[in-house]
Amino acid sequence: MYIIQVASECAPVIKAGGLGDVVYGLSRELEIQGHCIELILPKYDNMRYDHIWGLHDAYINLWVPWYGAAIHCSVYCGWVHGRVCFFIEPHSQDNFFNRGCYYGCDDDNIRFAFFCKAALEFILQSNKRPDVIHCHDWQTGLLPVMLFEIYKYHGMENQRVCYTIHNFKHQGMGGSEILWATGLNREAYYFQDDRLKDNFNPFALNFMKGGIVYSNAVTTVSPHHSWEARFTPIGCGLGHTLHLHQDKFTGILNGINDDFWNPEQDRYIPYHYASDSFEDKAKNKKALREQLLIQDVDKPIVAFIGRLDDQKGVHLVHHAIYYSLHKGAQFVLLGSATAAAINSWFWHEKYYLNDNPDVHLELGFNEELSHLIYAGADFILVPSNYEPCGLTQIIGLKYGTVPIVRSVGGLVNTVFDRDHHPNHPMEKRNGYVFNHTDYYALESTMDRALGLWYDYPDEFRKLALQGMAYDYSWSTSASKYVKIYDMIRHKY
Ligand code: ADP
Repeated sequence: MYIIQVASECAPVIKAGGLGDVVYGLSRELEIQGHCIELILPKYDNMRYDHIWGLHDAYINLWVPWYGAAIHCSVYCGWVHGRVCFFIEPHSQDNFFNRGCYYGCDDDNIRFAFFCKAALEFILQSNKRPDVIHCHDWQTGLLPVMLFEIYKYHGMENQRVCYTIHNFKHQGMGGSEILWATGLNREAYYFQDDRLKDNFNPFALNFMKGGIVYSNAVTTVSPHHSWEARFTPIGCGLGHTLHLHQDKFTGILNGINDDFWNPEQDRYIPYHYASDSFEDKAKNKKALREQLLIQDVDKPIVAFIGRLDDQKGVHLVHHAIYYSLHKGAQFVLLGSATAAAINSWFWHEKYYLNDNPDVHLELGFNEELSHLIYAGADFILVPSNYEPCGLTQIIGLKYGTVPIVRSVGGLVNTVFDRDHHPNHPMEKRNGYVFNHTDYYALESTMDRALGLWYDYPDEFRKLALQGMAYDYSWSTSASKYVKIYDMIRHKY
């Protein structure tokens, strides 16, 4: 099958979070399974050009219709760790992708509406006719809308769309200017409940809703989250739309790319190890302490890696730092915050704890360091308020780093509590789980986890090895996507 993935991220060249990992990992596995994959991405000025091989111009005169005129774009082609990627660069005063950031601009909705239009125009003009276009998150929600309302009538009538939602919180909103810019026009038609009109704001168009309504198949990134999205407020207002389209909506668990996340061959960790050489993990723990200037003593390390965002349960992360110290453990945090208040809060904590030899807070994005933390820590904490899938607990399991998680979203599908999990055999349990978002829930779970580390080291080791035995690589999940691609190709 010929599949084009259109996304705003692809790790490691453009990565703000799990979306980048998924786009890369899924593409790689689909290619291994024999499919032809191409990716279309924006050409940001701040992406990691050192991860692109052979970047060259592939299509220098792409004119993208925009507001009744057209914007001149160039399309570059390069290989990101073996994957063929096309990067779209618009040449206009709007400077859509030369902002030194991926997201967070006031006109993000216009930037990515343009990206969808440019991606379709590129597919059309370069005569690519994929069987399936796989779109991701709100940034590409308008692509199926434009495909089925405009491009279908210009020779793209056989293309089908699979749309994957990674985070319901960010849906992409815009007013009628989006319609005039993209050439969709017809305000009265799109401002209808069964099309793009937002379910709560009658004056807004909702990109993600457009993606759900128009795509042939819609997925989210774990089975439990697909249930939450429909039946709880976690669907952020799209529950009703998902109900109406439930026959094409499902949840497929993300995998991890075992080429990149693998303690046996990880290029960023000094000592490789596997389950039969688990003691070598301790050497990475020592290396981590050396790098972060933490004292080398007989204590467990609890780690947190992720965006410092309300979603991630920052109040519990903050509490866990002090509770770990109180319980005689060490704490390592690697995270970056976009909200100014959270950012200054954690910078304040960083200064406050600066001289403490048992804690290190690294504020920023650091891919290399994240690998060493997964390899060196004993526990990985994921106390999220909601978590569509969550990759850090899956990567933690792969590295023998025991997850302590809250029972939401994909965490429910991947982590099974060592002490209480009636439907799961003892030898398949792999971490610690709590339900509530209060300090008490976190503390009692940390007590159980740290207690095992201190009092029953053999049992702790057994639990870590049971986690390593889980296979959350992409092979199973990618096959599920292939089934969906096949289904939409033949059904519609
Ligand atoms: P998200 O909600 O951000 O998508 P996920 O758990 O799905 O969360 O994915 C997070 C991914 O981003 C993981 O690969 C994690 O290692 C990585 N990551 C998050 N924050 C950082 C950071 N500050 N530095 C390096 N890697 C990070």
